[in-house]
Amino acid sequence: MPVTDNSLNAEGALIVGAGLAGLFCALKLAPRPVTVLSPTPLGFGASSAWAQGGVAAAVGEGDTPHAHALDTEKAGAGIVDEFIAESVTAEAAARIEDLARWGTPFDRDDKGRYRLSREAAHSINRVVRVEGDRAGFAIMQAIIAEVRRTPSIRVVEGITAVELVRAEGRVIGVFARKLGDRYAEPVFIRARATVLAAGGLGGLYAVTTNPPSVRGHAMGMAARAGALIADAEFVQFHPTAIATGADPAPLATEALRGEGAILVNDLGERFMPAIHPDAELAPRDIVARANFRQIKAGRKVFLDTRMAIGGRILSAFPTVARYCLEAGIDPVAEMIPVTPAAHYHMGGVQVDARGRSSLAGLWVCGEASCTGLHGANRLASNSLLEATVYGARIADDISGLEPVPTRLRPFDGIAWDEEKGEAAEARLRDLQPVRALRQVMSDLVGVERDDAGLREALRRIAELETTALGVTRSFLNMTTSATMVAAAALRRTESRGGHFRTDHPAEDPAWQHHTTMLLDEALAIRAEA
Ligand SMILES: Cc1cc2nc3c(=O)[nH]c(=O)nc-3n(C[C@H](O)[C@H](O)[C@H](O)COP(=O)(O)OP(=O)(O)OC[C@H]3O[C@@H](n4cnc5c(N)ncnc54)[C@H](O)[C@@H]3O)c2cc1C
Repeated sequence: MPVTDNSLNAEGALIVGAGLAGLFCALKLAPRPVTVLSPTPLGFGASSAWAQGGVAAAVGEGDTPHAHALDTEKAGAGIVDEFIAESVTAEAAARIEDLARWGTPFDRDDKGRYRLSREAAHSINRVVRVEGDRAGFAIMQAIIAEVRRTPSIRVVEGITAVELVRAEGRVIGVFARKLGDRYAEPVFIRARATVLAAGGLGGLYAVTTNPPSVRGHAMGMAARAGALIADAEFVQFHPTAIATGADPAPLATEALRGEGAILVNDLGERFMPAIHPDAELAPRDIVARANFRQIKAGRKVFLDTRMAIGGRILSAFPTVARYCLEAGIDPVAEMIPVTPAAHYHMGGVQVDARGRSSLAGLWVCGEASCTGLHGANRLASNSLLEATVYGARIADDISGLEPVPTRLRPFDGIAWDEEKGEAAEARLRDLQPVRALRQVMSDLVGVERDDAGLREALRRIAELETTALGVTRSFLNMTTSATMVAAAALRRTESRGGHFRTDHPAEDPAWQHHTTMLLDEALAIRAEA
């Protein structure tokens, strides 16, 4: 797309996406000027605000960053980058202090020490939380208030980036479209440094816990611009999304199982102890697959919190209790129906330890990135941690390159228009090609995969890309991400962490490494499928 006169200047760094990663980076950049793009009003449309568990950090007695790193490596199934795990866990306490300083009301005991939760595959209670299951909401409320108080941050709400712009070998900004103006010419926003923080890709799947705006746009945009993508095949499926048919599916946090809740099928059988010594607290991929197989065999799966938690669920897990009550389930007296759902992407745009991508001028943080921290399977509550650590590292890296602060003016004519914005969101959700793409991903690139299914998925994605009426760049970003995941999943002929191949069910030591791929390579695999 040519760069036209229809352009704006970010007058400093440009951050695409307003979840925890983007806003943390913006705050760390202060007082340097930064423009943040958000498709919706701040706080909406970000996975960050929906996080229930909390942030993993070795801040409790008897814990150490090294022990946290070892748990991270174990969960990551042999391909976690050890140096990254050690360095990220070592920075965790400082980033928790930042969040607390900006007003996050973390749960504390009467001596002021953090109250810590236990989640699967952590060897100790290590998850810093807020009011039981309200961590994401409370963290986002606190940092949004801090962002609003910070004059060096210009927030533009109601705008979606659709393409990265490159010139002279570097990324120089983005093309972005005002929400609701699907047919208007995108505006070019020029920036000295572009930070992509537009989230993961769970919403590419028909059954997901992610908000509707998190559908692989970030990875798709970066891949189309020529960035190297790493570990795209590794998608984490959460075992216990609440199965009421709602889209997205609300989450029943793992902390419930941490407090003793068990999984049973509709015959009343508890099946996890026979599958793994840690039973319901086995790594997520194992529990997700067990639930998937029960459902595939015609059974229903329930999370039974009644014995372990009982009436306390109302006060200790208010978010889960509210989701249940809204769906007509009494969480004190009844079991909660659950299903696996696409939840988190371990892969993403490959970045180095400073958050730099393979494209000059482009930094990536949060779920859009692949830092090497999660390997093949993310340890619970490590993603909010990673978002803060890399948000801060990128701010540090950019600060070294950035000139003096300037006064930011608002972008004229771009603001959240509630009526148009909500109508545009609803339309996007219901577009037939989008629905078809999400079904292909759930059916053929989901919890279990095989060669024939992945080839079929690639052919169907190509077909949707070329035949969908009114294809927009947004949709192309989604099909690009879908192609990257399916092609990488087809190439990795083994099972590891979140990637399970029924035709290659064992881990293969020859595959004990990260994978990287350019879009051209993925398209070549797709063309041969
Ligand atoms: C239900 C749920 C519970 C979770 N619980 C936990 C937990 O307890 N602990 C934990 O560590 N992790 C948890 N996770 C994962 C964690 O929330 C995410 O990995 C993390 O919040 C990602 O942060 P982010 O800033 O990268 O992305 P997000 O918070 O998803 O923010 C992405 C932002 O980019 C915007 N955006 C998208 N596309 C564009 C575009 N084209 N242009 C401009 N902006 C765009 C979105 O609107 C949004 O503002 C949970 C996830 C979910 C869904």
